[in-house]
Amino acid sequence: MNKKGFVYYNLVGLRVLFHLKQKAMCLYCILQLIHGLSYVAQVFFLQRFYDSITAYDSATNKYSIILNLIFMGLSFLLAQIMNGVANSYGQILNESLQKGLNGILYKKISLMDSMEFEHPQKLDMINKAVNGSQMIFWVSTALLDIVFFYFSYFGMMSCYLFSTQPLLAISVILVFIPNVISYFIHMISFRKLENQIAPMRRKTESFLGYMTRKEYVKETRHLGLYHFFCERYENTLRKINELNMKLQYKKGFIDFIVCMMTVLFYGVIVLMLYQYTIINKITPGAFAAVLLSLKQFYGFMYELIEERFAWASQNVISIENYLKCIEGYHKEKESCHYEKDMNIVLKNVCFSYPSSSKYALDNINLTIPYGETIALVGENGSGKSTLCSVLEGLYSPDQGDIVFCQSDAKEISVKGKSRIGISAVFQKFVQYRMSIKDNITISDMWKNTSDKDIEKICNNVDIHLDKDGIGVMLGREFDGRELSGGQWQRVAIARGIYRDCNLIIMDEPTSAIDPIEESKLFEKIYEYSGEKTAIIVTHRMALAKLADRVLVMKNGKIVQDGTHEQLLQKEGEYKKLYQMQMKWYMESNL
Ligand code: ADP
Ligand code: MG
Repeated sequence: MNKKGFVYYNLVGLRVLFHLKQKAMCLYCILQLIHGLSYVAQVFFLQRFYDSITAYDSATNKYSIILNLIFMGLSFLLAQIMNGVANSYGQILNESLQKGLNGILYKKISLMDSMEFEHPQKLDMINKAVNGSQMIFWVSTALLDIVFFYFSYFGMMSCYLFSTQPLLAISVILVFIPNVISYFIHMISFRKLENQIAPMRRKTESFLGYMTRKEYVKETRHLGLYHFFCERYENTLRKINELNMKLQYKKGFIDFIVCMMTVLFYGVIVLMLYQYTIINKITPGAFAAVLLSLKQFYGFMYELIEERFAWASQNVISIENYLKCIEGYHKEKESCHYEKDMNIVLKNVCFSYPSSSKYALDNINLTIPYGETIALVGENGSGKSTLCSVLEGLYSPDQGDIVFCQSDAKEISVKGKSRIGISAVFQKFVQYRMSIKDNITISDMWKNTSDKDIEKICNNVDIHLDKDGIGVMLGREFDGRELSGGQWQRVAIARGIYRDCNLIIMDEPTSAIDPIEESKLFEKIYEYSGEKTAIIVTHRMALAKLADRVLVMKNGKIVQDGTHEQLLQKEGEYKKLYQMQMKWYMESNL
């Protein structure tokens, strides 16, 4: 499980379910309550019936026996009917809630800026959330079942037993304790094992990937590494199995002890019942009723601990993704427009990734006037992609603020708001297995454009169209055309360009394209950005020359800021990087 845990996510899940169908959910609770109590009624009327038989003598009205028999029959009937009704109602309610649950998710997704879909992490989260939406009813209602069905049954049964013989109630409940303890021991050991195994499992997956996945297979074969990976894969798998087996043995041993204890307690309780009946402390009717209900009592106890609670707490993780994804679904997310003539100002912006203690952006202060074309350069890991993500609104700064402002108007803080009027080409862009046309138009789905205009964009970025034109499917998965890394990158650039915007952010848009083609494409990109604001990350200093302004990043900071010429005249990071690359190009005769 996770930090916030079972009860928290169950309550949040229930809030969503009650929000969608309040009356139906209340009815579900009532049905579970009646269902639980119907089993108690069974025991109660069973005792009444036996008592009326044992007390029978000629003076007793035999109609009272018949009446008790009818009540007992009715209570058995009620329990059976309620079992069917409560379960089927759960199924029906789940089906009817599904539409609403998906509706919330899709609405929330539609409110996300479409460029967020380019982020693999976000796509991953959405994927998990869609799966989670199918589980939310069963996981969240665990809490309702526990409260309304199990607690009402055990609560009333305890009262019944207590009124019959207090010691009896206490002994029956004592049997719970070893079962509960063993459940928690199992849970803790499984969690410990899971933490131990998770990195090992990831390892086996990556070894398997090297041996079987399309993108690795060629290199693996070429280097003759198949046996090497195979051996590592098997060794890791063996270790996982050994750990699993060890835990299974331990679990088996504990379960055996608990089972023996339960049988022992059971025997003691039967003995106590017998003793109480002999000395007339309880009626023979109570003896029969308690004896018969013990099996049911332990059956429900097992079901509650091993099935309902254990299943729900294992699966709570899958609904966590759904609940996180729809967070704040009843509130509309505020959005802000990046409009013409707006400057972007970053004030003391700091950002660090949750998994790292280091600042990926360290106190960035920056003003970007409207229409400027900026080249963002710096060594790997200096923070360029992170700065892009923060500007796009994918990550919110930990400290500091980002504002949009027209020269004489008041500043608008855009922190935490979704942003309109921005287009982006991501470093890790998505290769959609769809047609070229869909791959491009997906960035602005509500825009009406003729096929001719889309072809023009393709032409501009040198996507060569064959006889099928822009309708051609991409990717081998659906029998489409497979593209090289560079060609996919052109498709991603076309997608960025297609979207109407006033600011375009491109993160290493041409990294997989050869240097000569790259220069040509860069000129087109600069030409396209025209009067728009553009931020282009590049690792090629020679291309930064074309930009109005160059920003150099290092260790999360902007260490230099100026035009290409200005920066070359100063000793510093830019000159160093530039000279290093020029030397390399000279030596490679490029
Ligand atoms: P650049 O784009 O300049 O190569 P990044 O912005 O990708 O650099 O990364 C800046 C720093 O943040 C690096 O130290 C990198 O290791 C770290 N980083 C990047 N992405 C993540 C992430 N998802 N989780 C944790 N750290 C990250
Ligand atoms: Mg990067």
